[in-house]
Amino acid sequence: MPDNFVRPSWIEIDLDAIAHNISQLREMVGSAVKIFVCLKSNGLGCGANAVARRVESEGGDGLAFGSVDAAIACRQSNVSLPILVYPSALPESAPAFESHQLMPTLSTLDDVDAWSNFVGSQLDVFLKIDTGGCRAGCFPGDAVNIGRAIQASDKLNLAGVYGHPMASYGLGSDTSKQINIFLKTISLLEDAGMNIPIRMLSSSEIILNHPEADLNAIDPGRLIAGVHFDSISSRKRHWQSALVGVKSRIVMKKIINNPGDLPATRFSDQQGDRVLGLIPFGWNDGFPPVISGDCFALVNGYRAPFVGPIHSELIRVDLTDVPDVNVGDEVVLLGKSKGENIGLNDLSDQWGVSEFDIYARLGKSLPKVYV
Ligand SMILES: *Cc1c(COP(=O)(O)O)cnc(C)c1O
Repeated sequence: MPDNFVRPSWIEIDLDAIAHNISQLREMVGSAVKIFVCLKSNGLGCGANAVARRVESEGGDGLAFGSVDAAIACRQSNVSLPILVYPSALPESAPAFESHQLMPTLSTLDDVDAWSNFVGSQLDVFLKIDTGGCRAGCFPGDAVNIGRAIQASDKLNLAGVYGHPMASYGLGSDTSKQINIFLKTISLLEDAGMNIPIRMLSSSEIILNHPEADLNAIDPGRLIAGVHFDSISSRKRHWQSALVGVKSRIVMKKIINNPGDLPATRFSDQQGDRVLGLIPFGWNDGFPPVISGDCFALVNGYRAPFVGPIHSELIRVDLTDVPDVNVGDEVVLLGKSKGENIGLNDLSDQWGVSEFDIYARLGKSLPKVYV
């Protein structure tokens, strides 16, 4: 635990894993395909700015953010890569996009008008295509008109066109159809004489299963953090998890001599002394609000089951079977403790959520230690 943490709970991130995953991707797609790393959810919980700096030093080509605030914070942390912002801002914020060199997403003719009005001098923009998911983006039939309007604006430059097929919501079987819709739309734009510097369509699962959709840029997120997905055999690689530790320390130890005498504890029907510990970690930090009976942490190499209910910033652990335990001892929710280990897959089983959920949940409030 770093000296400057007052609150002793933290997650451990291995940025070398990010570097490894980028190099695997680079080898897979080649040098002609730009890699825009998607840093939604605070860089998948790994800390967007730290990941962004590593992406830059590892030869990534760009970044993409879901939130304009996060994109500005990243730019202010000395990152000079191109930054795309997914649809999440109003045209009034155009001056902020200009001064921080961020590229907004436009989807409609009204967007083109409004952004043109608010831009002071020049702004690179992306046009998004809706490939059928009915989220942001224009329908293919409207793309040429919107592209022409961007061309006609003396304030806006078309930096690229992207799409985001639904691949992860049980709609994966339609991915090929969605890819084809995007490719057809690109052809329409090119046939209309438009030059499209960046053509981008592939998030993690699409990269791993549809090499034909690499085009000239990709925007993976979860794969960069090492989240595991199925893939076609030619795209199987070893992906390394960036999240390697979730840890806290015992801030209180309580010995209960007569649990049967207590009115409100789940030990009230038990005999013998119990030992409870408290850690400053709770559902506000991403711990599931309700747990099954077999969730435990490791303390000095021993299993310490969690004791519900889970509070917002505190949880109890049962230390009865942990010998010689003291306030300040490390409590490991993910990672190694003496000879024992809790892996990401184990944690995912304990919590009943996907590996990716664990990243997204934990990265919000907890300090990060880069190991
Ligand atoms: C979230 C997102 C991505 C990255 O998705 P992963 O599945 O994490 O790779 C790419 N593009 C867009 C538009 C997104 O919203």
